[in-house]
Amino acid sequence: MPPVLLDATSAQSVTWFVASLRDDDTHLGGETTDGTVTARCGRPFRPLARLNGLPLDPLQVFPTCAQSQRQPTRPGAPRR
Ligand SMILES: [Zn+2]
Repeated sequence: MPPVLLDATSAQSVTWFVASLRDDDTHLGGETTDGTVTARCGRPFRPLARLNGLPLDPLQVFPTCAQSQRQPTRPGAPRR
């Protein structure tokens, strides 16, 4: 297992994945061991591509996933 650098701002690695080439179908999520992605909006899918960085076209981003990126911490989570 490779060493993992933990950062308070990016403790969970999240990446944008292209679910399909349609509009509103690029999602923010984490890849699982079997190659599927579970998106922040709750949608599981097998990605066409993984993006390095932000999606170029905001029209292709699913709105729920875009909002979750702007709110990285869960509402109601206690701050210490
Ligand atoms: Zn999504």
